[in-house]
Amino acid sequence: MCPADASERQPADVEEAPQIQCDACESALHSATSRTVSFLLLEQVVVPVVGCDAHLERFASVCGFTTDGRASLIEHRPAGGITCPSCRLAVTNPKQPLIPVQDGAVTLLACAEHQAELVGRFRTGLDTAQQLAASLDSPE
Ligand SMILES: [Zn+2]
Ligand SMILES: [Zn+2]
Repeated sequence: MCPADASERQPADVEEAPQIQCDACESALHSATSRTVSFLLLEQVVVPVVGCDAHLERFASVCGFTTDGRASLIEHRPAGGITCPSCRLAVTNPKQPLIPVQDGAVTLLACAEHQAELVGRFRTGLDTAQQLAASLDSPE
């Protein structure tokens, strides 16, 4: 049910390296080890992510706008491990695009399919967050 040519669409502008102004993100990205990898849980999907705490939290909460379930961030590998076999392989692949998050950036150590999904959710979530911010206009 999934022919290999079904998803040739690629996320557009994740190819160019964004400017990272967050030192914490930068050092996390440059020394991505099992220590600096966190795990994003979104519905049934577990995706390893790298970045500083603040920007990972931001990424997770923005993704959370796109789901009725929840997006949460944990610092250690969940009991069930990474659910997607392709993502498991991707963890060892050092070539992963950066996703700009505010003045920092995070990297998803995920397969192409899940990267595309999460990038899409992040963008949708950003729109939603902006609309909410505009209509509420109060920082908590
Ligand atoms: Zn950061
Ligand atoms: Zn995957």
